[in-house]
Amino acid sequence: MEILVSEVGPRDGLQNVKATMPTEAKKAWIDALVAAGVSEIEVGSFVPPKLIPQLADTAEIVAHARRHPGVTVAALVPNRRGAEDALAAGAHKLTLPLSVSETHSLANLRKTHDQVIEEVKAVAAMIRGRPEDRRPHFEGSLSTVFGCTLEGMIPDAQILSLASRLMEAGCDEVGLSDTTGYATPGEVKRLVKLVRGEVGDAAVQGLHLHNTRGLGLANVLAGIEVGIATFDASQGGLGGCPFAPGASGNIVTEDLVFMLQSMGFTTGISIEGLLEARKIVAAALPDEPLYGFIADAGLPKGWAGEGVQTRNLKEDA
Ligand code: ZN
Repeated sequence: MEILVSEVGPRDGLQNVKATMPTEAKKAWIDALVAAGVSEIEVGSFVPPKLIPQLADTAEIVAHARRHPGVTVAALVPNRRGAEDALAAGAHKLTLPLSVSETHSLANLRKTHDQVIEEVKAVAAMIRGRPEDRRPHFEGSLSTVFGCTLEGMIPDAQILSLASRLMEAGCDEVGLSDTTGYATPGEVKRLVKLVRGEVGDAAVQGLHLHNTRGLGLANVLAGIEVGIATFDASQGGLGGCPFAPGASGNIVTEDLVFMLQSMGFTTGISIEGLLEARKIVAAALPDEPLYGFIADAGLPKGWAGEGVQTRNLKEDA
């Protein structure tokens, strides 16, 4: 079975570090990720540079990443203005976050749920107005879906209503996003099933997980058990968590790929290649801690890479 590992470090990671990675280093990082076999990369966010100066060069990074054939170049867009820029730059996939916590939505995007849905409708119309072969994939991401630092747990009914409103507004899929690192394996299974029950299995394909409380990879396994096959991750768990010193940000790509390959899943990604790409991040952000166990401990002796581990296990059994 194939699992798509979507690298979000250039967006989620870099927006949460103080330093700004130089544009040339971002390009080299993306090239190294592609060389490692990563086939989907969220390369930035089309937000005003004064809000997130670290991502001010997103249009240039999209243009650079697009030069790699077969790679899906994804970008975050907070609103129709950002989507215009993303379309102009040629992003293949747009993700618009909608925080299921309205308090969080107001604090982060300064928008109510109704206002975000209006933005989604406008972006969907913009996409539909383009020639069919130049329409990017459009994801509405339900953020803080596993809980919010301001509101705590969000009622299921509110989550389901927002999921169906996103689909009705013109999204191709809804993602479940553990913005706060509150997800647990039980909740992952429960919410995936619940939201799929509302909008259909095909409309819920991906999970965006953080490792704030150490359950990131356990949450991935829970997601796989209920049929999820796309997971966001970032190299070195870049960005950390401002509320939990020592905790990584997103789940760590290197560790995620190691776990998936050890179980016989196909990712198309070379861990050695990821470790090479990680060196570029370390050199460009020397003051930033990078997380992950595989980078520190190394691969097990005799590790042969994708597709081989399972066969060995079977022979042993
Ligand atoms: Zn995130």
